[in-house]
Amino acid sequence: MSGGRRRPLVAGNWKMNLLQAEAAVWCRALRSDLPTSKAAVGVAVFPSFPLLPVVARELTGSSIAVGGQDLHPAEKGAHTGDVSGAQLADAGCTWVLCGHSERRRDHGESDELVGRKAAAALRHGLTPLICLGETRDERQAGRTFEVLERQLRAALAPLDSRPVGFALAYEPVWAIGTGETATPEIAQEAHAFLRRLLAGLEGVGPAAEGLSLLYGGSVTPDSAPGLIAQADIDGFLVGGASLDPRNFLAIIRGSG
Ligand code: PEP
Repeated sequence: MSGGRRRPLVAGNWKMNLLQAEAAVWCRALRSDLPTSKAAVGVAVFPSFPLLPVVARELTGSSIAVGGQDLHPAEKGAHTGDVSGAQLADAGCTWVLCGHSERRRDHGESDELVGRKAAAALRHGLTPLICLGETRDERQAGRTFEVLERQLRAALAPLDSRPVGFALAYEPVWAIGTGETATPEIAQEAHAFLRRLLAGLEGVGPAAEGLSLLYGGSVTPDSAPGLIAQADIDGFLVGGASLDPRNFLAIIRGSG
């Protein structure tokens, strides 16, 4: 359990999956099965852009939050294929992923761009869920903490006075979509490092204790309880296992 200090959050990242009818079925299944007694666990879902209207409609009146998977740092304009913070908020989003490793890999997103995206999210009243994590090569070279520190400092640099309205997802790249979940010890070590780093940053300081640090990387109903038991793990960003509402619900149940 997260030390009783922070409300756990379980977030589903659908990536580039599902069609509208499937998304509606997923939402109805989760709503009907989500135990109200588990309101102690926050739940969010990150569908791809064309699914946002149907998901927002299906989840209206529920406690499940909706987020976008990415946003452009500009307010609007000539950015074909991109989506603005205002458009996400208008579509019913309250969250947005920034710097997911698949965006960094597929679209060459830099640490600096991730920071500008997080700042744009905050301008539009969206909570950025900033994703960071090392590759397998970086871990094997003993550079994990160096990489996390570089990514975190860059992501927070453009945030004026570092408002604490953001959350982090530690997602080791070697664990995403591979079935190789980080052990609770490895994940806790990284989370504790990130929280210590946050606590030392001007503008964050003691507020670091209240920030949500999620773990992401092949989380399953079986691995969730051991991870959430760690002092600095406050929930999960779940990819593959979030596509089946029964698995997602089992992870929620295992996080409360
Ligand atoms: C993710 O997409 O953020 C993720 C953690 O994926 P998976 O759970 O499939 O590893």
